[in-house]
Amino acid sequence: MKPFQYMRPTDTPAAIRVKGKEAGAYFLAGGTNLVDLMKMGVVAPEKLVDINRLPLRGIEVVGGGLRIGALATNSEVADHPYVLEHYPLLSMAINAGASPQLRNMATTGGNLLQRTRCSYFFDPTMPCNKRVPGSGCGAIDGINRMHAIFGASEKCIAVNPSDMSVALRALDAVVRVSGPAGERSIAMEDFHRLPGEQPELDNTLQKGELITAVELPAPVFTKNVHYLKIRDRTSYAFALVSVAAALDLDGSRGIRGVRLAMGGVAHKPWRLGAAEEFLKGKTVTEDNFRQAAQIAMQGAKGYSYNQFKLRMAPNAILQALKTAAAIV
Ligand code: SF4
Repeated sequence: MKPFQYMRPTDTPAAIRVKGKEAGAYFLAGGTNLVDLMKMGVVAPEKLVDINRLPLRGIEVVGGGLRIGALATNSEVADHPYVLEHYPLLSMAINAGASPQLRNMATTGGNLLQRTRCSYFFDPTMPCNKRVPGSGCGAIDGINRMHAIFGASEKCIAVNPSDMSVALRALDAVVRVSGPAGERSIAMEDFHRLPGEQPELDNTLQKGELITAVELPAPVFTKNVHYLKIRDRTSYAFALVSVAAALDLDGSRGIRGVRLAMGGVAHKPWRLGAAEEFLKGKTVTEDNFRQAAQIAMQGAKGYSYNQFKLRMAPNAILQALKTAAAIV
């Protein structure tokens, strides 16, 4: 590992100042992704700005919604009584990710920023446009079993590995950031990006910006929710396909509201807007769910080793909706 400088500021403006000024500076929080990348030689920071002493760990009910500090650990969020009662989908998604040990270290902000697990990205001897822009993509004609079926480009077909982000996308979360130009909010929809011509950029953060919190709107989907994650091992594996499903049902099983998002299928958490539109106002039936799953797959495209996702994904959507609605 290349030698690096280390600093541990105690206030947020100081941390942002350093990161904004020095191109080789990286924020360090839980370190569960960044330290791996350093050990593998994928990234080589010149300076680590350890933000663990910044006052960004609180989880508070604010104005009917919830504000989760960027340094709140995944375990703290998933086990928080208010999250369990009012945002159970978020708790389920977090607990589907990683291992208990990692969830105890990994932070909310870090989870949003974790890099793809594409094996070519992690191997500095292989071409990868995300790691070295312009070097090519090893996965497009290589082993692409884990890769995208939506929104990919000729430059990159990687997927975002986060489970938490899929639930946050379904719940219309907002990311609060602070940077050299001040504070701003970014809707989850706009936070992660598709690879396009610049796969090296995972998100829309500007230089020096720090995630300070994630905010959730007032809870609606408190009961009929499910996070289904399909993976190679039940414990500790990234999603082949995952689905966050949330239903707001009336007394006659009519669908007042619905949210659907997928993980393991795109460079960003993939919201299934057309399927949501189809289901709104309909009633809970297996046939309606099956049609919604087919609508959700419009525009999907597989590669040599991940064609199976084209069948797995609609089945996962159907199953997640059925479980959320408690029909068998
Ligand atoms: Fe790199 Fe993306 Fe290609 Fe993977 S899919 S090798 S991350 S460019």
